[in-house]
Amino acid sequence: MLCDKIKSMKQYDVIIIGAGAAGLAAAAQVIANGKTVAVFDMGATPARKVMVSGGGRCNLTNTAARFDRYFGKNPNFVRGALSRVSPNDILDWASEHNLKLSEKTPGRFFCDDGAGAVVTALMQDASGADFVFNTKIQSVKKTGGYFVVNNRAAKSLIVATGGISFSNLGVSDSGYKIAMDFGHTIVPVKPGLCALDLEYFPSEMAGISVDAKITVGKNSLCDSLLFTHVGIGGPAAYRASLFDIENNDMTINLVPGVDLLQQLKSIKQTNGKRAIISVLNEYLPARISRWIIRDNNKNIADIKDCDLSEIVRKICDIKIPHHKIKYRGLNSAEIVQGGVCTDEISSKTMESKLCPGLFWAGEVIDIAGDLGGFNLQWAWASGRVAGQNA
Ligand SMILES: Cc1cc2nc3c(=O)[nH]c(=O)nc-3n(C[C@H](O)[C@H](O)[C@H](O)COP(=O)(O)OP(=O)(O)OC[C@H]3O[C@@H](n4cnc5c(N)ncnc54)[C@H](O)[C@@H]3O)c2cc1C
Repeated sequence: MLCDKIKSMKQYDVIIIGAGAAGLAAAAQVIANGKTVAVFDMGATPARKVMVSGGGRCNLTNTAARFDRYFGKNPNFVRGALSRVSPNDILDWASEHNLKLSEKTPGRFFCDDGAGAVVTALMQDASGADFVFNTKIQSVKKTGGYFVVNNRAAKSLIVATGGISFSNLGVSDSGYKIAMDFGHTIVPVKPGLCALDLEYFPSEMAGISVDAKITVGKNSLCDSLLFTHVGIGGPAAYRASLFDIENNDMTINLVPGVDLLQQLKSIKQTNGKRAIISVLNEYLPARISRWIIRDNNKNIADIKDCDLSEIVRKICDIKIPHHKIKYRGLNSAEIVQGGVCTDEISSKTMESKLCPGLFWAGEVIDIAGDLGGFNLQWAWASGRVAGQNA
C-alpha cells in the first residue's frame, strides 16, 4: 500500500532542499554521476546569497582554506570535504566556465564578471535537475526507504537550506527543524561575520578606519577595523565575531606591531618640545589622538613616563569586558554560527550518522568560515561531497 503511494509520486534518485551555493554544487555532482535530481527552493531565483556575495563580485574561494580558518564545535570536520574538493578544484571549475577571476589579496579570489556569472555557471552545471522554485519545504517524511518531499520521492535527500542571517534575502529555519525531526542536535545559532556593538568608543570616532590587532581568549587577528556609531565594524570586527566573545573579554591594539612606549620615550629624549598630540598623530588618525589626549597642548617632555605608559595602555591595550560586547544582529550578519551538529554527520560523505540516505551540506551545518571566501569554499566542497555520495 505504502509502496503504491510512493509509486504514484514522481521519483528521483536524489532530492535537494535549497538551490543556494551548496545545493547547486550538490545538484551538479548528482547529475555528473548520471542520476536524477529534484531541487526545491523557497525563493523565485537560485543562489541569492551568492548573488550578493563579495559586494556583488563573489569572493568564491581562498587558497588558505584549511581547518584552522573554520569555527564551530569541531572545525576539524571540514578536513574531509576540503581534502576532496580543494580551492584549486574551484579555481579549475571557474576556469572551465571561463570566469575571469582576480586575486584581490593573496589567495582570495573574486569574480571580475560578477556574482551573476558564477550563478549562471552553477545553473549550467545543474541544468539537468528538475527545479521547483517558490516552494518552501517545512518538513520531510521518510517512508518505505524513501524521503517524501512535496509529493516527490527519492532514496537520498540533501538538505542545503543555509543559515538564517540576512532574512531579507529569504531564509528559513526549516533545515534545523528537519534535522531535529530526524534526531539531530542543533548547536544554538548566533550571528557570525558581523559588526559588534560595544559600550566603549565615542560616536565621534565613527567612520575612522585603522589596522588593529584584536585578541579574544586564545584567538587573535590583525585586520582593518572601522569605528561605527555604536562600536566596531570592518574586517577586523567581522572576523572577531567568530571568536568566543560571549565568554572572553576583548583586547584591542590600535598600533599593532610597534613598541609604542619605547618609541614615545625615545622621542621624549630626542625631541621633547613636540606636542604629544602631534607625536601620536604619526601613529593614529587625529580624531583618535584627540580622544586619547584631552590636554593636547602638553609637550612630550612634560609627560611623566608613568603617564606615557598610561597613554600607551589606552591605545595598545584597550580592554572591553565581554558583557559589553554584542553582535549587531542576525539580519546584518553574513553568516550564522551553529547549526546541525557535526558529531552526527560523516565528514567523508556528509551523510547523517542517524538516518541513512540523509545528507547535509553548506551553512546549515555547524561550520562557520573566516571572512575571505572560506564560507563559499565550504559550501562548494560539502555540496559536491554530498552530491557524490547521495
Ligand atoms: C551579504 C553577504 C555576502 C557574502 N559574501 C561572501 C563571500 O564573498 N564569500 C564567501 O565565501 N561567503 C560569502 N557569504 C556567505 C555565503 O554566501 C554563504 O555562506 C553561502 O551562500 C552558504 O551556502 P548555502 O548553500 O549553505 O546556503 P545559501 O546560499 O543561503 O542557500 C540556501 C538556499 O536554501 C533555500 N531554502 C532555505 N530554506 C528553505 C526551505 N525551507 N525550503 C526551500 N528552500 C529553502 C534558500 O532560499 C536558499 O536559496 C556572504 C553572505 C552574505 C549574506
